Amino acid sequence: MNRLFVNAETHRGVSGTRGWVVAPVRRLSDPAPQGRYILVAEDLTPADTAGLDLTLVAGFCTAGGGPTSHTVQVAHGLGIPAVVAAGTGVLTLQPGTLCALDGDGGLLHAGLDGPALQAATAREREQGERDRLRHEAALAAGPAPGGVTLSTTFVKPAQAAQLTRSAASGIGLLATELLFLGREHEITDEAAHHRVYRDLVRMVGDAEITVRTLDIGGDKPVPALHLPQEDNSFLGVRGIRLALRRPDDLLIPQLRALYRVAAGGGRLRIMFPMVTTVGEFTRAAAIAEDVRVRLRAPRVPLGVMVEVPACALAVDHFVDHVDFLSIGTNDLTQYLLAASRTNPALARDIDPLHVAVNRTVAHVADTAGPAGVPLSACGGLAASPVGAAVLASLGAGGLTVTLPALPAVHEALTRLSEDARQAIRHEALTTGGTAHLTQYVTTLLGL
Ligand code: PEP
Ligand code: MG
Repeated sequence: MNRLFVNAETHRGVSGTRGWVVAPVRRLSDPAPQGRYILVAEDLTPADTAGLDLTLVAGFCTAGGGPTSHTVQVAHGLGIPAVVAAGTGVLTLQPGTLCALDGDGGLLHAGLDGPALQAATAREREQGERDRLRHEAALAAGPAPGGVTLSTTFVKPAQAAQLTRSAASGIGLLATELLFLGREHEITDEAAHHRVYRDLVRMVGDAEITVRTLDIGGDKPVPALHLPQEDNSFLGVRGIRLALRRPDDLLIPQLRALYRVAAGGGRLRIMFPMVTTVGEFTRAAAIAEDVRVRLRAPRVPLGVMVEVPACALAVDHFVDHVDFLSIGTNDLTQYLLAASRTNPALARDIDPLHVAVNRTVAHVADTAGPAGVPLSACGGLAASPVGAAVLASLGAGGLTVTLPALPAVHEALTRLSEDARQAIRHEALTTGGTAHLTQYVTTLLGL
């Protein structure tokens, strides 16, 4: 830790979203301070996070949570620094206490003054300037640094304008359930789906959008659907499992809306979440084909997220059926390591670059490549420069990255020579581990 912060009260958590910000802290129950603040909370749901007023919330630090939770995915997408699993001490901070939130290091330095405050503020300024320069370099260089196609995740329609000014080729993950946060009663309404996709296509023009069908369940419950309580919702009726159990009110209205937009010229791909077996994919694809034919819509590529280990290990069974594959590193890590994404007690054990995860990614890439099936990765790992370099070295030809992370990832991939890829691949498949690979890749690529 920087010597300047030794006199600060430092709360150690886990890095959620990268970034550095200096501001007073506030809990939601405290009186609102003037200007921007760092929100401290016991935990935030994905819906809470999507609803944050970003003109006021500069970042957040939660006592609980986990680094690959959906809350953090939303924070990533919105581009606000976040630290999670920092313990209950952060809840006792006096409202208004000036803090530096270190999203990279997973730290909250509280009670800054004098030289520490100056250093913290200077770091925030320098980081903003570095990001601006990287953004310009990425824009000038285009969307495929080192031959890896970059696309972006998407959280709020308000981000569409930013997308068109970014180096992304399109939207690689439109997590549709997040579009309905706060208005879940519309989630079964074809007209509501149609409006969202139609408007988005209008906003992004020619850019391709990979739309993930509703991934409900896990830490994204939808009370309006009156689903039964599950003991272990992440291992329960989630994603495609739910969609296939309720085709009439979930899958078909959504597919109808999507094919109507495709018929109007929208460049879409449709991706199914939480697929375990080929049978699930072929059933979903058959429903999609039926909808398409009825609407006389054009074909759109149909693919699956590789996020259940069974799908990853039996990916050779999938490659003859799917048009594309996208690895969901958040869930793949959770399921491979048997460590919940949302349990703060395990937050430090979630190692998205664990050798087992790397070997699984390599297996998927080594199977998809020769079969001619395009493979990308769209979990949170792709949004870190080190994670992106490892995923590309293991064979992902496309990466879906949050908009704010795109310039730094772009820079890392630009530095990825063939020799560097070979070296990183070797290291990832033998030793692995986030701590080791972070040091290795950072040094190798000069990040
Ligand atoms: C993933 O699991 O990596 C992913 C992209 O999907 P989500 O985080 O929405 O589950
Ligand atoms: Mg997932």
